[in-house]
Amino acid sequence: MIYTNNHKLPSIVFNALTNRGKMPDGYVKSDISVSALMDSPQVRILRKRHKDMLQEDAMDRVWALLGESVHNIMEASVQLNTELGIDPNDFIAEVLGAMVVNNWRIGYKLDLFQKSTGWIWDYKVTSAWSLVFDRSRISWLKQTNYYAEFYRSEGHEVKGASIVAILKDWSKKDALRNRDYPQTPIVVLPMTLYDPQGIKESLFQQVVRHQQADQFTDPELPDCTPEEQWRNPTKYAVMRPSGGRSLKNCDTIEEARVYANNAGNGAYVETRPSKPTRCEEYCPVRDFCHQRKREYAESQIKTIA
Ligand code: SF4
Repeated sequence: MIYTNNHKLPSIVFNALTNRGKMPDGYVKSDISVSALMDSPQVRILRKRHKDMLQEDAMDRVWALLGESVHNIMEASVQLNTELGIDPNDFIAEVLGAMVVNNWRIGYKLDLFQKSTGWIWDYKVTSAWSLVFDRSRISWLKQTNYYAEFYRSEGHEVKGASIVAILKDWSKKDALRNRDYPQTPIVVLPMTLYDPQGIKESLFQQVVRHQQADQFTDPELPDCTPEEQWRNPTKYAVMRPSGGRSLKNCDTIEEARVYANNAGNGAYVETRPSKPTRCEEYCPVRDFCHQRKREYAESQIKTIA
């Protein structure tokens, strides 16, 4: 990875943002991390194959720096708890480990486990709006369930799990205006733990998906799913001939046509195609991705037609 300093940050800030070389204490060698396992094989493989040509600007790492800082402070607070008379042996913080699934070692880092309650805690520094739109809940559920399985495999009894979401952009004004908006800047979200057998199967399938993808050349790699591309669904807007805002946004063209017919006065339907937000703006391997090029070319043909 090549880090650029497009905003001419002072070197001390640039180094803090980009110093990723040091392995944490207790680093465990693995074939894949939990986050890479949960992500698209295409992203992981292109990242690995083109790592020397990938570029990231230091400024774009600001939220990663914030996340790491929060984790460090939370880890230190466990020590503070011990000073308050809580049994230090009851907590295991920042646990590094690996679990073998189909001959691959999956590396994980668990934020906190409390032995007496059998509870897993995971900290997330995230946007308040991601909670309103429920964007991350499915991946958090999956991740905490994977952690539960890893920890069970180490002989611990796991009774529950919670996410501590720290909302980096929380605003009091939005909380007062909108009842669906988180009412506090820190929210504790209990996570449901599912049947361990189902989780083991999910882990196995995801490992096999990655292992099989490794056999393909770049153009043959399996496509990312719409979820992995952060695609919003296609919408059908009912418009007035005079323009302006849509009368209604529908999920299906049939619904939109019925609405337009009933609205009369020349109302018509405008298709708003789904957009792969990650491919367009955030994916680190987008310049090497054949799926992105192919889908872009297809969208141009559709636009001309
Ligand atoms: S650019 Fe899009 S399709 Fe390509 S690897 Fe990234 S997320 Fe997947």
